[in-house]
Amino acid sequence: MAHFKPPNVAFTQMAGTGVFAELVGGDGEFKYYSDGEWKKSCSGKSVPIINPTTRETQFKVQACTQEEVNKVIDAAKTAQKSWAKTPLWKRAELLHKAAAILKEHRNPIAECLVKEIAKPAKDAVTEVVRSGDLVSYCAEEGVRILGEGKFLVSDSFPGNERTKYCLTSKIPLGVILAIPPFNYPVNLAVSKIGPALIAGNSLVLKPPTQGAVAALHMMHCFHLAGFPKGLISCVTGKGSEIGDFLTMHPGINCISFTGGDTGIAISKKAGMIPLQMELGGKDACIILEDADLDLAAANIVKGGFSYSGQRCTAVKVVLVMDSVADALVEKVKAKVAKLTVGPPEDDCDITPVVTESSANFIEGLVMDAKQKGATFCQEYKRAGNLIWPLLLDNVRPDMRIAWEEPFGPVLPVIRINSVEEGIHHCNASNFGLQGCVFTRDINKAILISDAMETGTVQINSAPARGPDHFPFQGLKDSGIGSQGITNSINMMTKIKTTVINLPTPSYTMG
Ligand code: NAP
Repeated sequence: MAHFKPPNVAFTQMAGTGVFAELVGGDGEFKYYSDGEWKKSCSGKSVPIINPTTRETQFKVQACTQEEVNKVIDAAKTAQKSWAKTPLWKRAELLHKAAAILKEHRNPIAECLVKEIAKPAKDAVTEVVRSGDLVSYCAEEGVRILGEGKFLVSDSFPGNERTKYCLTSKIPLGVILAIPPFNYPVNLAVSKIGPALIAGNSLVLKPPTQGAVAALHMMHCFHLAGFPKGLISCVTGKGSEIGDFLTMHPGINCISFTGGDTGIAISKKAGMIPLQMELGGKDACIILEDADLDLAAANIVKGGFSYSGQRCTAVKVVLVMDSVADALVEKVKAKVAKLTVGPPEDDCDITPVVTESSANFIEGLVMDAKQKGATFCQEYKRAGNLIWPLLLDNVRPDMRIAWEEPFGPVLPVIRINSVEEGIHHCNASNFGLQGCVFTRDINKAILISDAMETGTVQINSAPARGPDHFPFQGLKDSGIGSQGITNSINMMTKIKTTVINLPTPSYTMG
């Protein structure tokens, strides 16, 4: 049985101190970032951030008003015009500077992640370091791909002489609105900020409420790097209150959103602007009879239970051939028993889920499975927001857990009698983010990968979003467009062409 570790009370409080002291007002509330300055909202209201472990208020952030959002967007519009005229190498230089500052201050930012979203301490540090690397990579990739355009001549199209020279280049879109989710509030913010800025756009960030303080610290690293006033800003407040105003604002030229079903609603409401939507998933893991079961079990546990299953690319359903199911389940059970359960400060594998309502939702899925006869490989145990890891065997398609995303440490196993049955289950989902297949036969793996209606299929490994320069996209309700550094830079630009019309045909001689 997984064991509980007591909290490590010696975790040092560093958030909002040192270079970050100016983020905090005299009343202890965190300010928002507008026009290059840290400000208190005129609303006089704040939003509490509840620590998922203690279930007490950890921080408070400003509840920004619509007027403040208007000001931020106006400033972003003005700043973008000069930024687009800033040489690409200078934009890259500033991004490299911000990346270095971010990595230098990884500890206080990681501390916020631990307190706001109960991310295990080591993973929290990794998120910040990975984010610095992502920003640097954006700078390098931007210099390469934005420095290139196309040169076309007209005589390649039937009926044309060589009288037209067409020059194409990539130009910025304008003001980008970035909305990341709670589970990677720093990494999924910079994955939008880096591409937006290198491409000559300005950016308004609306961080998730749980994770807002980590995002504000991250934003301060860009401030310290010396980006022009107004180019980037961060407005806080509940998505349910200021979200619509932001996403339907006429000053926004593109929305890059990562989160759940909220993204579907935003897509229906947004105007005629480019959308990048990275939404939920129900990533299936198909295990064939010839699979290396030790490798599969290790990946199922890592993929299903890392950060307590609160990852878009977590393994969310195991589809295993019946003949190897007993052996696989035993191996997974043995590994689940070794997971540590407790507070994020102690780097436990399983930490409290983000909110009480998430915990209640997960419990609802577990109770439904219990009522419908799933086999519980461990006893169901919960204390506050902390849910012990649970493997549910013999799950059937009539159970909610077979289709819904628990976003918690609960993993269903469905036994299948044919590969087709597994593919059918995977494709019957309204999600299509990632999937994985375990087999020693590469030919079978490729055929299954082609048949799975998901944005990515991993062969012999758990689904994963990284490395951050790989293309990352969801089909169906899992998203619109593709992320990954190169794709995001391209998505945040449009093509501009200039055509030179010659009075007579001209053919370049060798
Ligand atoms: P969420 O509830 O959809 O929230 C995402 C973001 O949207 C938050 O910043 C939230 O702010 C904001 N928001 C809420 N209502 C809004 C509105 N009406 N207009 C504009 N913004 C609004 O998702 P979450 O619970 O944070 O994250 C979990 C979900 O994200 C899961 O479904 C997971 O699969 C998905 N996810 C997907 C990917 C991917 O790349 N495909 C990656 C990570 C997570 P507040 O916090 O203030 O409400």
